[in-house]
Amino acid sequence: QARLSGERQATYSPELNARMVEKHEMERQLREALARQQFVLHFQPKVDLDQGCITGAEALIRWQHPGRGLLSPGEFIAVAEETGLIVSIGEWVIQAVCAQQAAWRERGMPTLPVAVNLSALQFREGRVRLCVEQALRDNGLEADAIELELTETLVMQNPGEAERTMQDLRQFGLHLSLDDFGTGYSSLAYLKLFPFNSVKIDRAFVTDVSRGEQDAAIALAIIAMAHSMRMHVIAEGVETQEQLQFLRRAGCDQIQGYYFSRPVPADDYARMLQEGKRL
Ligand code: C2E
Ligand code: CA
Ligand code: CA
Ligand code: CA
Repeated sequence: QARLSGERQATYSPELNARMVEKHEMERQLREALARQQFVLHFQPKVDLDQGCITGAEALIRWQHPGRGLLSPGEFIAVAEETGLIVSIGEWVIQAVCAQQAAWRERGMPTLPVAVNLSALQFREGRVRLCVEQALRDNGLEADAIELELTETLVMQNPGEAERTMQDLRQFGLHLSLDDFGTGYSSLAYLKLFPFNSVKIDRAFVTDVSRGEQDAAIALAIIAMAHSMRMHVIAEGVETQEQLQFLRRAGCDQIQGYYFSRPVPADDYARMLQEGKRL
């Protein structure tokens, strides 16, 4: 085109073009994945440090890609967000968690809460409560069957609106967790303004608690402060006995991580519950 500005000509590159083509192709495949039920959920148990038993799980999405095998969210969530498809995918996750809970209940298993990760777009879009309400109703479940994990960046995008939405979700009876805490820039004192029930200490701090003094101090501070605000604390990414020991002494309430179990398919998680796997 003759009227193309110099600026635009300068930013054009074959690499950029290739990336756009790739993104479009992935968008097409993601739509197909939704239609053809190619998404699956894995479940990672959350364990209580006093009791040593499983108290629930976090649902983590995977994509059973026809040509590339099982893909983790790191390989497709970004494109899903950019294209807005994350909203439909997120709604699928809520439906799928509830359907799974109903299937487990059918087999006589107790209903322990399963946490779902919310994307900022899905949260802002404003139909989370409606979606959860319907999924619970469709499957004959109560609000305690599902929990929501929200990140600090998500609530900070529009604090006033976020607070109202969260109050509404709480009113409905949902448990809200602050995910990845410590990776953003807000203090827990500020986040106290939002109705969170629990805080998840990000893996970045957990990794070095048993070695680095600074991370240990941060973890201790988060736990003390969260408890003083009557919030539960869960540490994510716990991989070693040393980390576990530190967190237990620090008074952390729950852990999640490879040390106890990786995220696993639904049947494996059910088996862990049935066998009463403990710390
Ligand atoms: P996240 O919410 O922080 O989830 C924890 C991630 O840490 C998961 O990665 C989990 O497999 C991994 N992890 C758990 N324990 C350990 C450990 O001991 N060591 C290490 N190194 N890693 C551990 P995953 O499943 O690849 O998910 C990555 C991210 O993708 C999640 O981070 C979450 O932000 C996002 N995600 C996953 N499922 C969904 C979903 O259904 N919806 C949305 N919107 N995002 C999702
Ligand atoms: Ca999470
Ligand atoms: Ca997290
Ligand atoms: Ca994390």
